[in-house]
Amino acid sequence: MQHKVYWIEGDGIGADIWKVTKPVINIAVQKAYQGKEEIIWEELLAGEKAFKQTGEHLPKETLEALAKAKVAIKGPLATPVGTGIRSLTVTMRQKFDLYACIRPVHWYKGIIASVRHPEKVNMTIFRENTEDVYAGIEFQSNQEETKKLIEFINKNFSKNIKEECAIGIKPMTEHGCKRLVRRAIQYALKNNLPSVTLVHKGNIMKFTEGAFQKWGYEVAKQEFANQTITEQEIREGKDPKNKIIIKDRIADAMFQEALLHPEEYSVIATTNLNGDYLSDALAAQVGGLGMAPGVNMSDNLAIFEATHGTAPTAAGKDIANPCSLLLSAAMLLDHIGLDKAASTIRNAIQNCIDKKTVTQDLAKEIENATSVLCSEFGNLLIKEIENM
Ligand code: NAD
Repeated sequence: MQHKVYWIEGDGIGADIWKVTKPVINIAVQKAYQGKEEIIWEELLAGEKAFKQTGEHLPKETLEALAKAKVAIKGPLATPVGTGIRSLTVTMRQKFDLYACIRPVHWYKGIIASVRHPEKVNMTIFRENTEDVYAGIEFQSNQEETKKLIEFINKNFSKNIKEECAIGIKPMTEHGCKRLVRRAIQYALKNNLPSVTLVHKGNIMKFTEGAFQKWGYEVAKQEFANQTITEQEIREGKDPKNKIIIKDRIADAMFQEALLHPEEYSVIATTNLNGDYLSDALAAQVGGLGMAPGVNMSDNLAIFEATHGTAPTAAGKDIANPCSLLLSAAMLLDHIGLDKAASTIRNAIQNCIDKKTVTQDLAKEIENATSVLCSEFGNLLIKEIENM
């Protein structure tokens, strides 16, 4: 069977890590299915490569292909801070309504992590991807339209915003929050996981973050009443046996919990900005961004991507760690039903870590490790797969 997968190289280290990733995926599929399954690759242009060839960062052809696609995988895309183009990754998430950003965080044995018990970290973050302050509704300070907006708010809603303020708007809908939490609960059910924790800052932002918590509990109660139980219900004496526990934590407390009691958390459902912070922090607990995979999903399209950015200082030097993209590829293979190939890739990565031959970022985190180039690491993975 043939599986069409679109790929976007990405900026910065994108080219370095793609050179390694595609051959490893192909050989893993070949090894696992002996020619019965095959990936048909089609490149789409985005970012600087697209700009050089077409004069646009996100060409029409790319958007048209993605509008009809089911699966794609991308490298990181650069976004200037403060000025210039909007994030292409965020644009894609909004354009294709990729509302769920799913990031599993898992420790690979042998990596010296920043916490004493990284093996206790086994979480999957479901981050809402289309709403919140990421909606891009911002007004620059001291501009005419910003002053008009401030005047309107102060006058009509009895607020006292200073005239020189910059303004950001945080839109969140019941529909957007509920579909994210629904997906997180479905994932916990499918994978037989013990809990879903709603992470929010509802004590301060009551009508946005607080509503996320309220809508999250509502989904659990209205749609999964027989399969879920809340912590409150357990305290009241109800039996949690065979049920997914729905918890909620305030975002700042969750950062502490993730460090002190990671084993108590499994699936995390959270808002856009909280999810962004939390996923990098959790990745750091198990060995850093080089090992952090992810996917952005709508109900029709899944775009898999490395969680890290373009790492401009490492770009073109063949030193980046390709594992984040490779582990995202493994998620993609699971998604299209090629789970044997996915396990092949994960096992090959674990074997290289066991043998202590890794890229320089990981070599720093493994005792007596040998640091190899990105391309050399790719060749080692291929050898591991051939010898399986
Ligand atoms: P970054 O993730 O590029 O880099 C953070 C740190 O991690 C750096 O020290 C970098 O060298 C290291 N690092 C990241 N990936 C690595 C890898 N595979 N191997 C080894 N080390 C790695 O974050 P940044 O510097 O904040 O952002 C750089 C650019 O990337 C910005 O333009 C930003 O907008 C963009 N970005 C894109 C995405 C995306 O496309 N999904 C995500 C995050 C950042």
